[in-house]
Amino acid sequence: MKLRYLQGYPPGLLAQVEGLIDSGRLAETVARRHPQPSAIRNERALYDYVCEMKARHMKSAPPLAKVVFDPKLHVVKNALGTHSAVSRVQGGQLKAKREIRIAALFKDAPADFLRMIVVHELAHLKEREHDKAFYALCQHMEPDYHQLEFDLRLWLTAQELQGKEPVAD
Ligand SMILES: [Zn+2]
Repeated sequence: MKLRYLQGYPPGLLAQVEGLIDSGRLAETVARRHPQPSAIRNERALYDYVCEMKARHMKSAPPLAKVVFDPKLHVVKNALGTHSAVSRVQGGQLKAKREIRIAALFKDAPADFLRMIVVHELAHLKEREHDKAFYALCQHMEPDYHQLEFDLRLWLTAQELQGKEPVAD
């Protein structure tokens, strides 16, 4: 099968993943590593969670206008969540508004993956591209960032294999 969530990872690692898939152990392997479900069930709680993390790590970034769960967001296609600086005309003034949209499937994902995606989106408040500076910032906020992003991709692969494709292409 094509590991579309895992493109760009080393072939040896992908061979291990295929081994787990062939033996039917991918989902349980991910679940064992990330047993804690997310406790964030609604957007009010999500907003508080994101603002708390922003206050801890990204105090100087502009305040967030909005944080939402988006049921139509495709996690990988939209680069693991999405980030936007929405410009709106307000009282004759052009104001940049910061929004963070989190794919709704994170409601049902392990807590570790919600934390990872929030770190990812907060890092975009300072770094637009997925470059070295961006990932350095992610790792500053979450030292295990790269492992978590890989494990999230494993989880998405497992979900898809179970027929729970979150959002169709
Ligand atoms: Zn991104």
